[in-house]
Amino acid sequence: MPLKNEILNRWLGREAPAEHEPKKQPEPAVVEPASVIADWHMQLDEEGRVTGISKPLRNALGLAAVVTPAQRLMGYLMPGSALVVEGAPEEWHGHMLDLDFRRPNGQVLHTRGWVQAQGEKWLLQLLDIGDLMEEANVAQSRQQCLRLAGQLAEKVRGCHVDRLQAVTAEQLEELAQSYRVPCLALALAEPGGAGWRIYAQFNAQTAPQLWQDGQRLGTDLDALVSTQTHQIDFGEPTQLVHLQSAFGNADGFLLPHHKEGSVKAWLLFGFYNAARQAPELGEREWMNLCSALAGPILYRHADQAHRHQLERLAVLQDLLGTGWWEFLPDSDEVQLAPQLARTLGLPGSSDVLPLTQWLQLIHPADRHELESRLGLLRDRGTPMLSCVRLQQEDPAQPPVWLRIQGQVLVSGQARRVLGFMLDVSDIKNQEIQAAAAHARLDNLIASSPAVIYVLGYDRGSLEPTFFSASLTPLLGWTQAECAEGLLTQYVHPDDRDIWFQRTRQLLREGVVSCRYRLRDKKGEYHWLLDEARLLRDDLGMPVEAVGLWLDVTEATQATERVRESEERYRILVEDSPAMICRYTPDLILNFGNRPLADYLECTPQQLPGVNLGNWFSAEQKEAFLRRIDELTPEAPMSTAEICLELPGREHAWWVWADRGVFDDSGKLVEIQAVGRDNTEIRRTRMQLNQSAKMATLGEMATGLAHEINQPLNVMRMAVVNVLKRLSNGDTDVEYLTDKLNRIDTQVQRAARVVNHMRVFGRRSEIEQQLFDPIDAVDGTLNMLTEGMKGKGVELRVGEPGPRVQVRGHVDQLEQVLINLMVNARDALLSKKEKTPELEPWIALHVEQDDQTLWLIVEDNGGGIDPRLLERIFEPFFTTKPVGVGTGLGLSVSYGIVEQMGGRLSVSNASEGACFRIALPIARD
Ligand code: ADP
Repeated sequence: MPLKNEILNRWLGREAPAEHEPKKQPEPAVVEPASVIADWHMQLDEEGRVTGISKPLRNALGLAAVVTPAQRLMGYLMPGSALVVEGAPEEWHGHMLDLDFRRPNGQVLHTRGWVQAQGEKWLLQLLDIGDLMEEANVAQSRQQCLRLAGQLAEKVRGCHVDRLQAVTAEQLEELAQSYRVPCLALALAEPGGAGWRIYAQFNAQTAPQLWQDGQRLGTDLDALVSTQTHQIDFGEPTQLVHLQSAFGNADGFLLPHHKEGSVKAWLLFGFYNAARQAPELGEREWMNLCSALAGPILYRHADQAHRHQLERLAVLQDLLGTGWWEFLPDSDEVQLAPQLARTLGLPGSSDVLPLTQWLQLIHPADRHELESRLGLLRDRGTPMLSCVRLQQEDPAQPPVWLRIQGQVLVSGQARRVLGFMLDVSDIKNQEIQAAAAHARLDNLIASSPAVIYVLGYDRGSLEPTFFSASLTPLLGWTQAECAEGLLTQYVHPDDRDIWFQRTRQLLREGVVSCRYRLRDKKGEYHWLLDEARLLRDDLGMPVEAVGLWLDVTEATQATERVRESEERYRILVEDSPAMICRYTPDLILNFGNRPLADYLECTPQQLPGVNLGNWFSAEQKEAFLRRIDELTPEAPMSTAEICLELPGREHAWWVWADRGVFDDSGKLVEIQAVGRDNTEIRRTRMQLNQSAKMATLGEMATGLAHEINQPLNVMRMAVVNVLKRLSNGDTDVEYLTDKLNRIDTQVQRAARVVNHMRVFGRRSEIEQQLFDPIDAVDGTLNMLTEGMKGKGVELRVGEPGPRVQVRGHVDQLEQVLINLMVNARDALLSKKEKTPELEPWIALHVEQDDQTLWLIVEDNGGGIDPRLLERIFEPFFTTKPVGVGTGLGLSVSYGIVEQMGGRLSVSNASEGACFRIALPIARD
């Protein structure tokens, strides 16, 4: 090629023509004779008509051997270059002519030539400049390609990362339009190297869509050679058959982009044949374009991934209060991640600090260990892992634990010492707590009367694999002594059935609870409560059993003792001579023993359900219920003498002791009672009372005689006087009436005394009655006043208070008062014998408050020898001579007052004895 240019230039006498130079030039300086240098030439006449064509040119133009004469040169040329040869050859002389000839196949033959005169004719010599032209075209399009590549790269590199994909699609469009590619796509490797995926694509409207964004291409592309372009030609056999599906069975063209030795991206051209459609671009240009596009995208992706990585790391470090550290050996300093520096409470900007200062942050107890490990890491590369506490100002705070890890990183010549610090306080503190709890639990189990065991399951048999440490303290056996069937030997022979049954039940039902006796090493048996549970795997197959032995020897023995004791009590109750029963507050019997059943003339079995109230009179029942109602959890006991109307008997008197049973809320739920038949005793006592009463009457006889005698005397005097008057014939009616009235009064008086004596002498009523105690006082005074007067004893009777009622028998209270006054009289009379100047008196007065009424009998008889005070209520105790005193008066009186719910007491007052009868006032 340089040769051609040289020829041309030499001929034209100038340097190679510039493109923009005008076509017509001044005359050449040297005009050589018409010598033929070029193979291609034509002969022209002076008007420019072709008269001859050299054979090579004819061949090149594909013309026949015989030239049709008289055709102008213009007729052979492409329209574009025909302009150059307007006019006659003479005008062209001295100019360089670029002539493009038309070839019959439509191709163009590029030539450059000049004309030379040849006599009258002209010789047009031509050189083939097709290759020169082509070279220039190629250079141009390569330049364009380079420019395009630059633009693509710039766009992709400069856009915002969020728009990267969109911009890539735009650049694909740009590229497609530049080279008229119907379908164009960029495929990137999938993360993890599992095939390829379309990242962005462009599709011309006229072409079918081959690819879509995000489409997976599989791994077919992996087989391609990474360093060259690949053309798939569907029309011809191709080795890349496997790719045809990815290209819709159309022609295709692939460009790899590789980095660090492997392909990272493919640029795919669909319906495109590069060699045919862009012949001017070589492999290098294509690769260049691909790299211009894919390179920046991959870089930006890597950059973004890196940034994300950093952000994740920062977040992680922030969240965990942790971070990396690096030891800088040159300065003996430690550099910390900013988050870590913050966690450690270092001031704002100081994330590089001297090693010593770093160590100062650590608790002294852990500091030396850390320092030593760090030394090993630095000097010998021993990887480091240690848990240390931070130095803390407030020792009350829970410690902050850090896990420090370090290793040496060698890359090339560089050797770095770096690691991580992680706050593990939560875990560490939990670990410490768990360890403490575990130790406590171990301790507890070891010191408790419980053994935890594990039984391993092996084809239907269960053998111990573990016992808690409490085994030996409890039973004396070691774990080994309980293994492999040995345990069975220790089970009490009587309990072996339970033992075998337990294993079977555990396997069958998965859970068991039983008791049996197990021998300890000393040969003593322990009652064990055994509770076990079978654990199964996911498939329901037994894996092992976990169980617990609880030593219940004491409890079992205690239960046994209770049972025995209950049995004893049952016998005691059933065989007791006393009546024992339980009944509800509405008097329905729950239980009664044989003695009670005998009294009620039935069997013990018939007793439950019977109402006790059936045997009471209405009054007794009311009194009984009132008494039960007064029971409280604080005072649950009550005793009374109750009266029943039993079948076949008139009245039965029972001494009856009740004990209330209360529920948690203090409500009475049941009463337990013990009773004793007191009828005989009571009858005897009544007889005694009666005898005592009679004795009292006897003692009163003198007084009573006086009492009767007095009215008799008055009457006798009246009768004598009346008779005397009548014998004198005096019949003064007024006088006689007066005397008769006096006699009547005295008769009434005597009748009253006699009447009262009759009443008093009667036996007492069975049931107690309500009465006014003052009635008893009046009755007593009626009988005694005259007698006392006769003996010179003054009666001092006090004013009674408001009227009240007491419960009992009025005659019995009278009996008590008579006893006391007669005793006082006797004491006074015996004292008067020794001291005649004594003026004897007996005082009887009444005192009362809301609940109690007192009848007080006091005298001035000198009182009772203090040594005898305690004994005077004893039956048959008397200081009176034999035949005079019975010693029953006070004893009977005491009993009567007690029967009335009251109390009789004595004391020595200033001048004599003072007896006080205290009686509960009855209220409705
Ligand atoms: P008796 O009157 O038959 O002796 P009591 O039981 O009535 O039997 O009395 C017992 C004793 O108590 C009397 O013997 C007497 O010594 C003593 N006694 C009773 N009352 C008085 C009194 N008012 N002053 C002194 N002694 C008394």
